[in-house]
Amino acid sequence: MAQISVDIERGPDEPASPHQGRHPNTCPVCSSHYRDDELVAALRVCRQCGHHFRLPARERIAQLVDAGSFQEAAADLRNADPLAFVDRKPYTERLTEAELATGLGDAMLVGTASVGGRPCALAVMDFFFMGGSMGSVVGEKFCVAADLAVARGVPLVAVASSGGARMQENVLALMQMAKTVMAVDQVRAARLPFISICSDPTTGGVIASFAALGDVMIAEPGALMSFAGPRVVQQTTGETLPTDFGRAESQLRLGHVDLVVPRAELTAALGRLLQLFAPSTDEPTADAPAPVPPPAGPMGWLRRLFGGAGG
Ligand SMILES: [Zn+2]
Repeated sequence: MAQISVDIERGPDEPASPHQGRHPNTCPVCSSHYRDDELVAALRVCRQCGHHFRLPARERIAQLVDAGSFQEAAADLRNADPLAFVDRKPYTERLTEAELATGLGDAMLVGTASVGGRPCALAVMDFFFMGGSMGSVVGEKFCVAADLAVARGVPLVAVASSGGARMQENVLALMQMAKTVMAVDQVRAARLPFISICSDPTTGGVIASFAALGDVMIAEPGALMSFAGPRVVQQTTGETLPTDFGRAESQLRLGHVDLVVPRAELTAALGRLLQLFAPSTDEPTADAPAPVPPPAGPMGWLRRLFGGAGG
């Protein structure tokens, strides 16, 4: 098969990423610096300004679910590189480097777990594996998680962190958008909830597919959640954008997100949601008090549940 080769270079006028050249443990907002153990103990949230650093998938799972409850599935799935894609280096070389750097087979871990004693199927992305990009393996793993949810009759929980579709897989990566949307439909058809948690960044083909389809949409503070980044939108439209363009807080204001939850409160929030969605085993009795009607407005019931945290 002929090799597909493209040349990707940063243009001389293109601004560098705000994270470029900065130590990974230095806060990009307030420049506070932390030892690794300090940062892990603080759930990788800056103690000075509240900036949420990006989380490796295994650390996310350790923070989020009941200790020892995660059972990984589809751990052996690996990419086949059917396009024999080469940019500045072969795709297979990039995959090997990412695998060595992260200890992961691809940019998503899936399996089953429990949160607050409530079971769920789980799909967690890792931005440190090729920018959390979604290729064939990520798409297939998400479907495995959806299948697990349906087979066990439990909610599906996804934690997204992605730059979008994986360009090295071309149309095969774009097809994962349709595939993961169908997987969400399958969960919905089984009348099971899908809870989508968007961390920084959730962009491109991932926010344009499964990550935006949660029955409950949760975001971490400050998470960028837009199809295109603010710089691209600003260059294309010639408009000056608000400083919080595409961020979790503006998506909450615009109604695309139900809750913005700080990382330290995420496990409790998820546990309460799973409890809310759990099938009731107790039939209501005639003496049971009448249910209190939820506050008016969209998602009023959710804001009441979280004491107004939904804004
Ligand atoms: Zn900071």
